[in-house]
Amino acid sequence: MSYVVGLKCRECGRRYPEAGVHVCEECFGPLEVEYDYAKMRGQITRESIAAGPHSLWRYAALLPVDFTLGPPRTGLYSGMTPLRRARNLERVLDVAELYIKDDAANYPTWSYKERVVSVAIQKAIELGYRTVACASTGNLANSLSAHAAEAGLNAYVLIPHDLEHAKVIGSLIYGPQVVRIDGNYDDVNRLCSEIADRYHWAIVNVNLRPFYTEGAKTYGYEIAEQLGWKLPRHTVVPTAGGTLLPKIHKAYSELVELGLVDAQEARIYSAQAAGCSPVVEALKSGRDTILPQKPHTIAKSISIGNPADGYSVLDVLRRTGGWGETASDPEIHEAVQLLARTEGIWTEPAGGTTLAAAIKLIAQGRIPRDESICVCITGNGYKTVESLDGQLKMPEVIPARMDAFAQLVERRGVTPEQMSTAPRWMTDNMM
Ligand SMILES: *Cc1c(COP(=O)(O)O)cnc(C)c1O
Ligand SMILES: [Zn+2]
Repeated sequence: MSYVVGLKCRECGRRYPEAGVHVCEECFGPLEVEYDYAKMRGQITRESIAAGPHSLWRYAALLPVDFTLGPPRTGLYSGMTPLRRARNLERVLDVAELYIKDDAANYPTWSYKERVVSVAIQKAIELGYRTVACASTGNLANSLSAHAAEAGLNAYVLIPHDLEHAKVIGSLIYGPQVVRIDGNYDDVNRLCSEIADRYHWAIVNVNLRPFYTEGAKTYGYEIAEQLGWKLPRHTVVPTAGGTLLPKIHKAYSELVELGLVDAQEARIYSAQAAGCSPVVEALKSGRDTILPQKPHTIAKSISIGNPADGYSVLDVLRRTGGWGETASDPEIHEAVQLLARTEGIWTEPAGGTTLAAAIKLIAQGRIPRDESICVCITGNGYKTVESLDGQLKMPEVIPARMDAFAQLVERRGVTPEQMSTAPRWMTDNMM
């Protein structure tokens, strides 16, 4: 059983049955999954969710999947990532209540993409597809490759040619067809739209997009459940194609609608890299049109110059009273290292972008220091080691002798006694 009514055009409201389609035939508007919330009410409770598995499938009743057709074939260990109270960062940033939702720890490929891929693959199986595919900046390709292997589907992943080494190998290892394109993500995405017309494939972020994007709601459900069924007052979210941010908002709204959390102001903020900020640029200049950009930033996983759901992001920022900020490459580096050194979380440049933007929004007073803040970390630093080239120095090699070690301690000017005192972030307040 599922609570899905069907697909509905976000622009003209025309309805469609569930299928591998994503744009309205009438007006070319995007299609969205429609649910029967009246039927859900009273059936989906805090208790029924808590009784579910310790994975994103605990929210299956709120997703476009039908387990009466068979149990989930993938994603059984995905989601339910830590929501961490960041007490050290609270001290550094001088804020009262700061949380990190840490999808750097998502399983099995260490990014938020496990959420969208798990739902898309389940739907692809329901709809009878044998081959799944995607256009990706790296993390989606990794996740789709792994989940497709587990579910026994063929996979084609298309990526720009200049991704980090670990993001290419991190797809190849699972045995999909990996296609590197001489172009940027927007070129890859355009090609995928043409492929969708030609081949009967489930291209998860093209023709399966209405189902795929619904998986991102689980990020928002988890934040609320892990906060004890409350919403944070301020949520800072990275924006690339614009999937995650509006779906966190949709998740919050659904929980209010179903009476699982109390209605309260929950502002949502977008973080983009300064070298690729079409949505934040439109927001700040007060325009309704998002002008595509040619990306240039170390935050490659969020380098999308022409975001598919940019308008939904803009709409949510404006409707919730949120805002947006950008971070330059040096600011991204600084924030990546700050998060690692205060909280022991190593995120990729996308996460650095989000934290750097949050810090700016706090400094500007747009996010008050005494209200709850959730920073959304979406990817893992181990995959983007080369982004740190020139940032961290490879230590010199010394002989395995006591005198050599003593000399090294002298040269570094850091004695063992000094090392037992408080780390620097405890004494240097940033703000
Ligand atoms: C895909 C991705 C995002 C956000 O992308 P949206 O398309 O806006 O949902 C953020 N961070 C990382 C690490 C990603 O891989
Ligand atoms: Zn329409």
